[in-house]
Amino acid sequence: MAKILNPDICVIGGGAAGLSVAAGAAAFGVPVVLVERGRMGGDCLNFGCVPSKALIAAAKHVQAIRAAGEFGIAAGEPVVDYERLQARVHAVIGAIAPHDSAERFESLGVKVIADTARFVDDRTVATGDHIIRARRFVIATGSSPAIPAIPGLAEAPYLTNETLFDLKRLPEHLVIVGAGPVGMEMAQAYRRIGARVTVVEAGKALSSGDPELAAIVLEAIRAEGTVLHEQTAILSVERQAGGVRLLCENAQGRFAVDGSDLLLAAGRVPNHASLDLGAAGIRHDAKGIAVGADLRTSNRRVYAIGDATGGLQFTHVASYHARLVPQQILFRMPAREDRDIVPRVTFTDPELAQVGLGEAEAREKFGRIDVVRWDFSANDRARTDGLDRGLIKITVGRRGRLIGAAIAGAGAGEMINGFAFAIANRLTLKHFRGYVAPYPTLSEIGKQASISYYAPVARNPLVRSVIGMLRYFG
Ligand SMILES: Cc1cc2nc3c(=O)[nH]c(=O)nc-3n(C[C@H](O)[C@H](O)[C@H](O)COP(=O)(O)OP(=O)(O)OC[C@H]3O[C@@H](n4cnc5c(N)ncnc54)[C@H](O)[C@@H]3O)c2cc1C
Repeated sequence: MAKILNPDICVIGGGAAGLSVAAGAAAFGVPVVLVERGRMGGDCLNFGCVPSKALIAAAKHVQAIRAAGEFGIAAGEPVVDYERLQARVHAVIGAIAPHDSAERFESLGVKVIADTARFVDDRTVATGDHIIRARRFVIATGSSPAIPAIPGLAEAPYLTNETLFDLKRLPEHLVIVGAGPVGMEMAQAYRRIGARVTVVEAGKALSSGDPELAAIVLEAIRAEGTVLHEQTAILSVERQAGGVRLLCENAQGRFAVDGSDLLLAAGRVPNHASLDLGAAGIRHDAKGIAVGADLRTSNRRVYAIGDATGGLQFTHVASYHARLVPQQILFRMPAREDRDIVPRVTFTDPELAQVGLGEAEAREKFGRIDVVRWDFSANDRARTDGLDRGLIKITVGRRGRLIGAAIAGAGAGEMINGFAFAIANRLTLKHFRGYVAPYPTLSEIGKQASISYYAPVARNPLVRSVIGMLRYFG
């Protein structure tokens, strides 16, 4: 007979979002049940951020060896031992896994159930052995790779992010469907470690950010040898000896792409099919579970967070959501998601990072804005380190208010932290101009850009005469 549990909070899904809620609530001594049907740690640890960034790190080493000649160091073409490289990727996952494990969460006071959860009515969830009637439920079931409707795809062998990191041999020619962040990160990494790579994209590559900055990244990736077909439809996929053949079509006509392996990176779909959301009156569609800015669903006992909501799909968004929900459940404090403070980073080389509104969105919303630009080539550290390919664009509103910042360049993912902090705290460019940045660092680029914003004012003759008078009398 099923055991009945009555916790304060039942969390469904043990990925970044669910684990953070469970840990946060348990820290306050609140009874929490966590249901996870697969691997604790979810996508980020097992099939997403962690393995992809470990692979990218390896690929960076390979590229550094190739580029050593520029620095006067003789090095031949690096030899990649793919098995050892993959072993390290899995060792990194293994090193982080205990932190997300059922054992650790049990030790924090969370009851962990390894099973699939589904709603049976508006206040009850069932698993194989348990009936859970919680005061509040938090759905954190994440997302899965989208499988596009391409004729022949179902019969052809393909990889997704869930199988890519288990591949035992380096693909001879990796064909990637989709040129979003995941597709382009993997394209560059696999090209660097020695695969031929072709990417096929129905629209524009890296289309979610600033096109001028995306162009800098795409140019670098193409220069390393990745073939990228944009605005290209895939008419069919077929299995053939030694791999797959894609029949493609674009404005130049029809052509075939033959690859040894096929990776699907064509977006994500929310995991909610198994939840029987209808039984609990929870509105949802193919894009995700519908939530308000407070992350509450159409059932007032139930919240949904992270990828399952179909919003911005990042681990730091999952963690951000996970902070807003317990605040409401435990302390009845109102909380609202603010997407303008969420940074987005694509970990290509150079990296692409953005927070707040981009140039086009800011113009649409505010009309008159200023865009401050600073090229990486004007930064000494970028020059010394051979990283001078990059650009920062800062969107500025009235009285120097920071509306957004976008960066294409080395270290963009680190540099965007300062701007995310500034935007979340409603700071202005004056704050960026006023602090002392260590020299020589790439982060100085943000400060250099901010100084340039105020420079035209200082060049104004009226301002100069006022400054002159102040100096004379001061
Ligand atoms: C290749 C790749 C690279 C990425 N890189 C980055 C990056 O560098 N930075 C970044 O911020 N983001 C990155 N992401 C995105 C990031 O991985 C996700 O945004 C994040 O994992 C979402 O967390 P989540 O908790 O919402 O969902 P998930 O991590 O997917 O966790 C959901 C969990 O719910 C479980 N579950 C589902 N249904 C049920 C059910 N009915 N009952 C019980 N359990 C259930 C699943 O098994 C899963 O473990 C990447 C994604 C991919 C695919």
